[in-house]
Amino acid sequence: MSLAPQEIIVVAVAASLAVLAVFAWIGRGRRGSFEPRSSRDRVFRCGQCQYVYTDDEDVDHSRCPQCGDLNGFVEF
Ligand SMILES: [Zn+2]
Repeated sequence: MSLAPQEIIVVAVAASLAVLAVFAWIGRGRRGSFEPRSSRDRVFRCGQCQYVYTDDEDVDHSRCPQCGDLNGFVEF
């Protein structure tokens, strides 16, 4: 039993996509540990609908993306 040329191409594309996905995942993990950008975001919790979301660190008050209520940030 042998593969048709189209099947070989499909398998090759799938394999290279899988390899790319693995490298992208590794690269993102490394970058994330060196660049603490996401952890500098402020966490907000809406007093209206209890929705938890993040915004930039220099923002003191942010509007809830869920209901539009203005909220102060939560300090941990
Ligand atoms: Zn809300």
